[in-house]
Order: sequence, then structure tokens, then C-alpha cells
Amino acid sequence: MEDFIKPILTLTFISAVIAICCYYLGLKFIPSFVLSTVIQFMVWTLFKYWVDSRTQIKIEQLVNERVQEFRTQSLDCTCPDENCNFVTAVPVVINDTNMYECPKCKKEVKVYIGNKTFLVTAPIDSDPFKEFNFVENTDYDN
Ligand SMILES: [Zn+2]
Repeated sequence: MEDFIKPILTLTFISAVIAICCYYLGLKFIPSFVLSTVIQFMVWTLFKYWVDSRTQIKIEQLVNERVQEFRTQSLDCTCPDENCNFVTAVPVVINDTNMYECPKCKKEVKVYIGNKTFLVTAPIDSDPFKEFNFVENTDYDN
């Protein structure tokens, strides 16, 4: 109830102050009061629209950041059930036990994160066997 009465009292007070100022400037009180009330409603509506738009944009940015964070810390996991094999993005924590419920078959699935190492290699420029005769098992220039 107080949430409704306080803005009405504020609106009425501001409209009355404006109408009293207009009255002392030679304008009529009631039309000035009504006009200032309508203008306050319009200004308040525009201000509320502006604040809501900014809030909505901020929320969208936070959701996008959250989705981006989710993408960087998730894996595409295939359900191990041979009748399901549904692939879904699963959020993972490297140093923790990772489990999820398959969205398709509703079974609990545990995710083990392993690693495999590879040596970095450099590609060779050309075919190393282009001078080699495989029939005679010797180089061509010999
Ligand atoms: Zn499944």
C-alpha cells in the first residue's frame, strides 16, 4: 500500500508546486496542475522505458558472458549408453568429479578427463623419396 501511496503523494506535491508557481505567474491553477501531472507521467514513462532498456541490455550482456564462460569450460560428451549416444555440452571442472544426467535417456553419466601428449613436429618441404627407386631399392642417381 505504501508503495502505491508514496509515488502518488510525490506526484501530487510536485504538481501542486508547479501549479502554484504557474498561478503566481498569472496562469490558472487547475489546468497547470493537470498539465504538470500529465507531463510528469510522460517523463516518468520515458525514464522508466530508458532504465528498463538499459537493464535489459545489461542482463543480455551478462547472459552472453555466462554462455561464453560456459562454452570455455564445457565438453561435448557422448552418452555411453549404446542405445542413446546423445551428444551434449557438459560443464566440467578439471580438478573435480564431473557428472551429468543425459538429457535424452535421463541416465547419470560420469565424465573422466584424461590427457594425451604429442611431440610437436615440423612438416618437411618436399617428398623425401622422390629420388628413391623403390623397384631397385636404390637412389635414382646411383
Ligand atoms: Zn543417454
